Amino acid sequence: MVMGDLPRDVDLVVIGGGPGGYAAAFRAADLGLETVLVEARGRLGGECLHVGCIPSKALLGLAALITDAAEARAAGVEFAPPRIVLDRLREWTAASIQKLARGLDGLARERSVDVLAGRARFADGDTIRVAFSNDDHPPATLRFRHAIVATGSTPVPVPGLEGSGARIWDSAAALALTTIPSRLLVVGGGYIGLELGTVYAALGSEVTVVELTDGLLPGVDRDLVAPLARRLDGLFKQVHLRTKVTAVRETGSGAVVELDGEGAPARLEVEQVLVAVGRRPNSAELGLERTGVQPDARGFIPVDARRRTADPRIFAIGDVAGEPMLAHKAIAEGLVAAEAIAGRPSAFEPQAIPAVVFTDPEVAWAGLGEAAARARGLEVRTVTVPWSASGRAVAMGRAEGLTKLTFEAATGRVLGVGIVGPHAGELISEGMLAIEMAAVAEDLAGTIHTHPTLSETFAEAAELFLGRPVHLPPPRR
Ligand code: FAD
Ligand code: NAD
Repeated sequence: MVMGDLPRDVDLVVIGGGPGGYAAAFRAADLGLETVLVEARGRLGGECLHVGCIPSKALLGLAALITDAAEARAAGVEFAPPRIVLDRLREWTAASIQKLARGLDGLARERSVDVLAGRARFADGDTIRVAFSNDDHPPATLRFRHAIVATGSTPVPVPGLEGSGARIWDSAAALALTTIPSRLLVVGGGYIGLELGTVYAALGSEVTVVELTDGLLPGVDRDLVAPLARRLDGLFKQVHLRTKVTAVRETGSGAVVELDGEGAPARLEVEQVLVAVGRRPNSAELGLERTGVQPDARGFIPVDARRRTADPRIFAIGDVAGEPMLAHKAIAEGLVAAEAIAGRPSAFEPQAIPAVVFTDPEVAWAGLGEAAARARGLEVRTVTVPWSASGRAVAMGRAEGLTKLTFEAATGRVLGVGIVGPHAGELISEGMLAIEMAAVAEDLAGTIHTHPTLSETFAEAAELFLGRPVHLPPPRR
């Protein structure tokens, strides 16, 4: 729709069309609010669809296919090494993204959500100016009753690597699949470094990871990370812990990187560097200083349980509103904010927010671990079922996995779940349901799970807690 300088009055303006923003806009429209969504990239889906969750998972699926095919050799099934046709791979990934983006456009149209392709900025506490991506289009002014900030996040640069040249990738550049580097250095052993490192290693790159802290995936329980770390030892050329990059010099054919860390070489020559050391909220260029909203020292926008900011008419959701920076958290917050604005008694009060690292094996966790539960004064007991006790895992040749449940000791209530192994990202939802429904060990043990499946390890963990495991030795009397 074409708009001049005359302000347009609307019930709700959503800034940002990522998972948080589109979910909020759709729910608000369904609840009868006239909703305008402003999105700088012109298409709905945000970082997640265009340069994040979806393309990375498409490529991780292919990476698993490549490694599974190679490992089938041990079972007597041999495939020739794959030939990667990069143009077709890029087109295939882009086609999934386009299909999903078109789907979102259609859903917005069906709800009469007006999507403006432009960049939004607050002019004051009740007005937003939109500069359109198409320069021929004059800026527009929207006067809002409520606004939701859903502007997401951007990669954090590493000091010394800010001038990112052609040899230094962020995750979006790595997902653009311009080349398969012969040698790739990944800076950061977190979600992105390990997921995209896995992709490029499967595609044929020699991958080296440098991680600042003393372990991969800092913050995740070590027993869940260990099986992944062992497998990555075989997939990656090298992982250097307690190591940082001190300088990078780009050459015609690659980059010379200087490292500082025990056991790490002082210098490394690679073709490409991927920087993945975290993301920071997009709150700086929104004109928030002209509103009552005050981002915190890290740039996150503080919100209450309804996702309302210090300015009562402005809400914030998703990555810009705080950790964890995950798409499903953004969606859940978006629905709460829209319902709160529509006058519904909604609040964002989940018992847990699940997290998954989609490596091979996948690592997934939700709720309270042993240490966190004890810190809250809860008496807990954690039980772990090794997947060597799972017929399905053994038949898949993937007995390295674990299913770990934390129970409240006195009641048997499920407080936390951790899983490492193939499909952990799907399996975690059973744990989430148990946590949200306040299920106890008897509920899990009494639920008949299909055999042979990995999900049986949930029932087995509950049986173990109750002292009567079937596929593990009986408890000592
Ligand atoms: P975003 O998706 O970042 O969307 C924000 C949108 O706002 C953007 O489209 C941007 O163009 C727009 N915008 C910003 N400023 C303005 C402005 N002033 N005016 C108009 N528009 C503006 N999470 C998961 O849960 N699972 C995964 O598997 C996963 N994989 C990931 C893989 C990668 C490589 C990356 C980088 C991230 C991944 N994430 C994953 C994280 C996930 O992408 C984010 O948590 C999620 O996208 C956050 O959603 P959001 O709606 O807050 O913001
Ligand atoms: P991250 O926080 O997951 O990992 C960053 C890693 O870099 C950490 O291990 C950190 O210790 C390390 N690091 C920091 N500074 C360093 C330095 N100078 N040198 C070497 N290592 C350094 O961040 P990310 O991988 O960039 O991902 C950003 C966010 O995106 C994630 O936190 C997550 O919220 C989201 N994400 C989620 C998924 C998923 O859900 N599967 C996938 C990708 C991204």
